Amino acid sequence: MPSDMPLPDPLSPETTAAITRAVDEGFAEQTDFLARFVAIPSERFQEAAAQDFMAAALRARGYAVDDWTIDLKDLEPLPGFGPISGDFSRARSVVGSHRPALVKGQSLILQGHLDVVPPGPAEMWTHPPYDPVIADGWMYGRGAGDMKAGTVAALFALDALRAAGYAPAATVHFQSVIEEESTGLGALSVLQRGYRADAAVLPEPTDFTVNRAQVGALWFRLRVRGKPVHVSVAGDGSNAIMAGYDMIRALQGLEVVWNARAVADPVYGDVPHPLNFNAGKIKGGDWASSVPAWCDIDCRMGVLPGHDLAHAKREIEGCVAAAARDHPFLSNSPPDVVWNGFQAEGYVLGEDADPALAVMQDAYGSVFDGAVLEETKMTALTDTRFYGLYYDIPAFCIGPRAENIHGFDERVALASVRDLTKVLALFIAGWCGLIPLRD
Ligand code: ZN
Repeated sequence: MPSDMPLPDPLSPETTAAITRAVDEGFAEQTDFLARFVAIPSERFQEAAAQDFMAAALRARGYAVDDWTIDLKDLEPLPGFGPISGDFSRARSVVGSHRPALVKGQSLILQGHLDVVPPGPAEMWTHPPYDPVIADGWMYGRGAGDMKAGTVAALFALDALRAAGYAPAATVHFQSVIEEESTGLGALSVLQRGYRADAAVLPEPTDFTVNRAQVGALWFRLRVRGKPVHVSVAGDGSNAIMAGYDMIRALQGLEVVWNARAVADPVYGDVPHPLNFNAGKIKGGDWASSVPAWCDIDCRMGVLPGHDLAHAKREIEGCVAAAARDHPFLSNSPPDVVWNGFQAEGYVLGEDADPALAVMQDAYGSVFDGAVLEETKMTALTDTRFYGLYYDIPAFCIGPRAENIHGFDERVALASVRDLTKVLALFIAGWCGLIPLRD
């Protein structure tokens, strides 16, 4: 819902210089703050300490802070909801709001997720994942790139405006959310709570590209069950792990079919292999000399934007059912497909984003000598879909340069974090307008 406000006047060279100088002057403190944030392990269901950290930072800056426990019942009826398994009773969202007395520009949501994916075996990291180390201009740590550096850049972009003597001349909601990596329920919760704006920017690590499109994703668990016997008579038994492999192969076949179809897609037709199937986690069996009676496989499958999720789910169920029908054991005991986690549609940025993208281009050009922003089509997904698909808030990502996100030795380039902070500060100034602070 675009406001009736015209875009504010372009920034003067003096104002631009004052803002970027303020970013430089605050960057040592920003780097220290980021290291302390990365040091807090904020894996799924353990985000409380990181949310406390962010809420305290917002309060210290004088924002109106809304810190609440998410009630799943409020979210279940909403579009984009994904079922969750695990203890969600302490899940919180934190929003810090700036509301000026006089509004002259467009309102803005700045959103960052603080949930991180598990680091995996510690011995595969050069440095411990939650003990951030800076080397050769990179900060290492789980979540440093995805996406704590971006979130902190947004916070310090607002700080830089203040240090330069300004406040945004429109409402800004700074949203710290959880669950981006599993369901997106944190993003859904802030929308359910009623937060709206003329645009939303999510500083995910895109290396300064803007995501024009992103795929959807479905998460599901394959539950394979078999009859346990001793390994000496394995031929009579039904090995649930081996049967699970056969189901994975069938789903790889569906992945091939879907990607062949994607060649005709208006948005993703020119992207090679946009839809990825991933068997991401497998668990099964109890004993090396017992034929395994059970196997659970957690899977992820990509879906093109505009494709009906219900239809995609039926195709996946149909693929598993057909493979089980021809299977010596599973024909008697077909596996269950349990939908759990992401039930996410794809999202393509529409023309309603053009005004915000134009301001972002100006901000980016100011920092990068007039360079032109590149657009990408992602084969992954972000929280932007909730804002854009269901609440008419154009939402896009732009963020720092990071490597090995979701892998070992995740790291973010600190020079890119500094540049991003400048880009975001100038974007906020250009989009929201500025009010001079006078004592
Ligand atoms: Zn992320």
